[in-house]
Amino acid sequence: MTLEDFSRQWFNQLDAPTARTLERALEGHDITTAEAEALLTVRGRELLALLLVADELRRRTVGEVVTYVVVQNINFTNICTMRCRFCAFSRLPSDPQGYCMTPSEVAECAAGAAQAGASEICLQGGIHPKLYLYDYCALLRAIKQRAPQLHLHAFSPFEVWQAARHSGRSVEDTLKALRDAGLDSMPGTAAEILDDEVRPRLAPNKLSASQWVEVITAAHRLGIPTTATILYGHIETPRHQAAHLALLRQIQQQTGGFTEFIPLSFVHQNTPLYRGGEARPGATGLEDARIYAVARLMFQHVIPNIQVSWVKLGAKFAQFCLNAGANDFGGTLFSESISRSAGAVHGEYMPEQEFHRLIRDLGRIPARRSTTYDLLEVFDGVSAGV
Ligand code: SF4
Repeated sequence: MTLEDFSRQWFNQLDAPTARTLERALEGHDITTAEAEALLTVRGRELLALLLVADELRRRTVGEVVTYVVVQNINFTNICTMRCRFCAFSRLPSDPQGYCMTPSEVAECAAGAAQAGASEICLQGGIHPKLYLYDYCALLRAIKQRAPQLHLHAFSPFEVWQAARHSGRSVEDTLKALRDAGLDSMPGTAAEILDDEVRPRLAPNKLSASQWVEVITAAHRLGIPTTATILYGHIETPRHQAAHLALLRQIQQQTGGFTEFIPLSFVHQNTPLYRGGEARPGATGLEDARIYAVARLMFQHVIPNIQVSWVKLGAKFAQFCLNAGANDFGGTLFSESISRSAGAVHGEYMPEQEFHRLIRDLGRIPARRSTTYDLLEVFDGVSAGV
């Protein structure tokens, strides 16, 4: 049997609905929410075909460069009264393990990161009951004063929502004040699953799906780009995942403000949700691979960048998912407390050399990027310094 015969026979044995969806995606059609839901359950031969198609669409959309960003994460406070059930990071104000960094401490840390080569500070914390819009602006200003060259990627939609409420300001005014204080872009975290059936079971005190959309679209209208995320592998089903992807696609078609999509695999070990017996113990490897691949198909015309979260997946499986539709390796992350508190065992820092090794092992080209995906340096093997 020739390889051509083998591959024809192999593809002919795919189940008909999967084959039809993959063919439509390859022809450049948007897949529907129902098709995405079906793809989120495939296994065996159909899964392998999905991965091949996702990888092909990745190649057509962004080519062979795999990007990463040199970033310092600063989780400036772990004090939070929201008690999200998937979170093991937060501490109540009375807890001796609670902390809240001052603006000058945050600026000191950021200045050190800038000296070490970081281009971005990612600043997020708990919902501290005593922080007001003024305090969030003070953090941004303190960093910009010490290291004006740093891109400030800061505050989840929930932090923005709470800052607005605490301060009696509209979301739009709050975002304008943050932007004037130095905010360059925002993480699209706190999305979890954008479904108001699921959200109350995950995080009863968190903003609703429509409130999340309100903050994100207001940011995009003001020219503040954001990432888009999903937290999966807990109590949600493929139906919720597919609807979440469809909503993100719809927002992006309207605003164009998402820089990338980042699937976040639930780290279950230390969370009340898992310990209370309500959540499954995280996604399996196949669920992880499927969500990257289906995201590539869903977003093929609207979100070119799909990021692997190596802190949650581990560097080795993250490397594999770069063959499942993803094209960005995320950040070097000098420090990240949220996943580690939940039980993630994968480090808090990966040097650029290790990114290069893993990317070159894929037969692809490493490139350091800015937060908004400008290529700062392409290590194409000729000019490679590291
Ligand atoms: S996820 Fe964020 S808002 Fe929820 S408890 Fe943890 S720190 Fe607080």
